[in-house]
Amino acid sequence: MKCPKCGSDNTNIQVVNEQKLVTKHHGVIWWLCIGWWWIFVKWLFLTIPALLAAIFIGKRKKIKNIQKSMHVCQNCGNTW
Ligand SMILES: [Zn+2]
Repeated sequence: MKCPKCGSDNTNIQVVNEQKLVTKHHGVIWWLCIGWWWIFVKWLFLTIPALLAAIFIGKRKKIKNIQKSMHVCQNCGNTW
């Protein structure tokens, strides 16, 4: 594979493991301003239907592992 940036043939392919459903961490100000009602709204609109869906459909959420091939140029450090 040729690097699209510098045209060098000196490239590697790296397998990158990506995880979905990653929990985001928020700051204290976020929790004070948005967190308390956002969690409530989220709970109301997401958890209850999700629980109902889980009861009626019986599907479980799983963490998806997606493997991506990433090209790394050894010449200029470009990744694509
Ligand atoms: Zn390059």
